[in-house]
Amino acid sequence: TPLAKDGAVAVIGLGRFGGSLARELAEHGVEVIGVDIDEAAVSEYADIIAYASRADATDEVVLRQLGIDEVSRVVIAIGSDLQASILAASRILKLGNRHIWAKAISEPHAEILHQLGITNVISPENDMGRRLAHLIRGHISDFLPIDEDFVLARTTPPVRVADVPLASLGLRGRYDVTIVAFKRRGGSHWDIADRDVILYADDEILVAGNPKKVEAFSELDK
Ligand code: ATP
Ligand code: ATP
Ligand code: CA
Repeated sequence: TPLAKDGAVAVIGLGRFGGSLARELAEHGVEVIGVDIDEAAVSEYADIIAYASRADATDEVVLRQLGIDEVSRVVIAIGSDLQASILAASRILKLGNRHIWAKAISEPHAEILHQLGITNVISPENDMGRRLAHLIRGHISDFLPIDEDFVLARTTPPVRVADVPLASLGLRGRYDVTIVAFKRRGGSHWDIADRDVILYADDEILVAGNPKKVEAFSELDK
């Protein structure tokens, strides 16, 4: 039985999503306790993470035996097996961990996890799909959905905002977006866009706001 520590992270389900999460955490020095019902998944991560156990995460007794109740952060990375995901989530909620994330593969799945009391529900397939749609359309080179109604997009300044101080443009009133940061062409770092900054057409910018507004702004003059 592994001795779980408070700094550890438990990853329930070592499929593609949970597996890459566990690997990335371990590579950054985090003690990862991985659980999967499938022996092949467990052996794949045995040498990569601190503890990899073959167990059914819907069994509360087993979860306690593995010390999952002593870990402050747990990620439920079971997707397509809806029943297993929901049962595991309900058991894990009973353990009282401070931070719980759960992956959902559909809108109803996400809703049920929310109803159970999971505050951090992630929908990687949905989010990646949305993100890719914006990348494919052309003017946005990176897109981070923060919420349904708030995103951060990487793009270039419309011609009409270039060459004059940001504060003189009234972007918030006119377009309802905020330029958060900028990077000069060939530059190596991002700077916070304060009111005095002058953007050039070949800069890159990060724009925050409602997705439709951000998209409309990114398409101006293009
Ligand atoms: P991914 O896309 O990340 O591969 P998926 O959405 O296709 O995930 P599943 O295959 O359902 O998801 O689950 C991911 C992992 O969770 C699998 O390795 C699976 O064996 C494991 N898993 C499923 N049910 C349980 C369970 N009851 N206890 C522990 N692990 C489980
Ligand atoms: P996701 O996680 O995005 O739901 P998945 O990895 O679980 O995807 P599938 O369910 O296998 O993937 O496939 C996604 C979609 O692709 C399904 O709607 C399926 O009907 C469709 N699809 C699968 N095979 C083909 C094919 N050969 N030609 C066209 N469509 C296909
Ligand atoms: Ca999947």
